[in-house]
Amino acid sequence: MFAADEYVMLSALQHFAFCPRQCALIHIEQVWEENIYTLRGLRVHEKVHQPDDELIEAGIRVERSLYLASKKYGIRGIADVVEFDRDNNPYPVEYKSGSKKSRQADSIQLCAQALCLEEMLARPVNKGAIFYHKSRRRQEIEFNDNLRSLTKKTIEQTRLLLAESKLPPPVQDKRCEDCSLIEACMPDAINDFAKSATKNNPFKLY
Ligand code: SF4
Repeated sequence: MFAADEYVMLSALQHFAFCPRQCALIHIEQVWEENIYTLRGLRVHEKVHQPDDELIEAGIRVERSLYLASKKYGIRGIADVVEFDRDNNPYPVEYKSGSKKSRQADSIQLCAQALCLEEMLARPVNKGAIFYHKSRRRQEIEFNDNLRSLTKKTIEQTRLLLAESKLPPPVQDKRCEDCSLIEACMPDAINDFAKSATKNNPFKLY
C-alpha cells in the first residue's frame, strides 16, 4: 500500500521514460512551457471528446477522461479514452500529437493504464492502442511480459526520482530538439556537467 503522496501520475511515467530530467522539471519544479508540440497536443486532446460514429455503430461504449488508479502499484491519472466492447472488456486508447516514437514512453503510459484497469475491473487487459494524430493511425500495443516489466520498473524509478526531489542531468540527444522544456532545462549550458554526471546517473534506464 502506498501513501497518498507516494502515488505517481500516469503522465509522469511517460515524461520519465522520455527523459527523467523532463519528468523532474514538470513534476518537481512545476515547470511547463508551451510550444508548437504542446499546443498540438492540446488540439489532439480536444478531438478525443468528439463522438466516433463508427465505434457507436459497432456497439462499443466509449468512456472519455476516465480516472484510473492502482493501489498495488501506487499510480493514478486520467485515461484519454477507454473503449468497452459488448462483453465490457476494456481497451485503453491514448491520443498523441506526433508520430510514432522509437522510444517506449507512450507504450509504458498505456501499459500503466492497463495495470490500473485490470485492478479496478478484475479482468485482464491484453491490448490497447495509441492514436498518432500526425499519421491518423492507431498503433495497437500488446501488453506482453517485457512491456509490463519495463512499466513496473519505470513506476519504481519515477517514484524514487520524485521522492528524492533531485534534478537529473540533461540527456542531451535528439530528444531535446522537440522538447517543450528546452529553455528551462538549458541542456547546452550545462554540457560539461551533464557529461560527467550522466556516468553516475541512477535513473539511466533508457
Ligand atoms: S531539453 Fe533535453 S534534457 Fe532537457 S528536459 Fe528536454 S529532453 Fe530532457
